[in-house]
Amino acid sequence: SNGHEKIDHVYKVVVIGDSAVGKTQILSRFAKNEFCLDSKSTIGVEFQTRTVTIKGKVIKAQIWDTAGQERYRAVTSAYYRGALGAMLVYDITKRQTFDHVARWVEELRAHADNSIVIMLIGNKADLVDLRAVPTEDALEFAEDQGLFFSETSALNGDNVDTAFFKILEEIYGVV
Ligand code: GDP
Ligand code: MG
Repeated sequence: SNGHEKIDHVYKVVVIGDSAVGKTQILSRFAKNEFCLDSKSTIGVEFQTRTVTIKGKVIKAQIWDTAGQERYRAVTSAYYRGALGAMLVYDITKRQTFDHVARWVEELRAHADNSIVIMLIGNKADLVDLRAVPTEDALEFAEDQGLFFSETSALNGDNVDTAFFKILEEIYGVV
């Protein structure tokens, strides 16, 4: 990339889910291919971008981070405004973060556009020995709610790009 390529579309994607599930690390992995071992909760950075090509179109993905406001109902409707996609993240080693996913879906239904594409993400899939959420439970919930689903590891990068490309392709398909 010479930085002068023509952008065909800018897609806003929000990342939501409980605190410490790995939202910021997933975003860094996708945007910069970085993982920061001792990340502090994010303050300030609103979004990161990565430009990708989908079906010959240059898509600038603008991925928004909650910046430490992930307390239930503390994320304001401004955060969701204009979002075409949402990555709803839980931690496969923390059952409670999965139990809260239904509330996050309610938040999206209340504040985001009806046509928003939602992907449920079970992160920290590298921590196999600590798994507390069976894949089948998440898959069943996702199918029930009409969400896409993937398990990822921001630590080793597994499925992160694949999940983002999937949601961007789906957005491309629906816009
Ligand atoms: P956020 O609050 O949802 O933004 O979570 P962070 O991205 O700040 O991550 C919270 C903690 O989980 C940090 O200590 C990360 O290093 C760790 N973490 C994030 N993603 C992964 C992952 O895929 N695997 C493992 N083992 N740890 C992760
Ligand atoms: Mg964060």
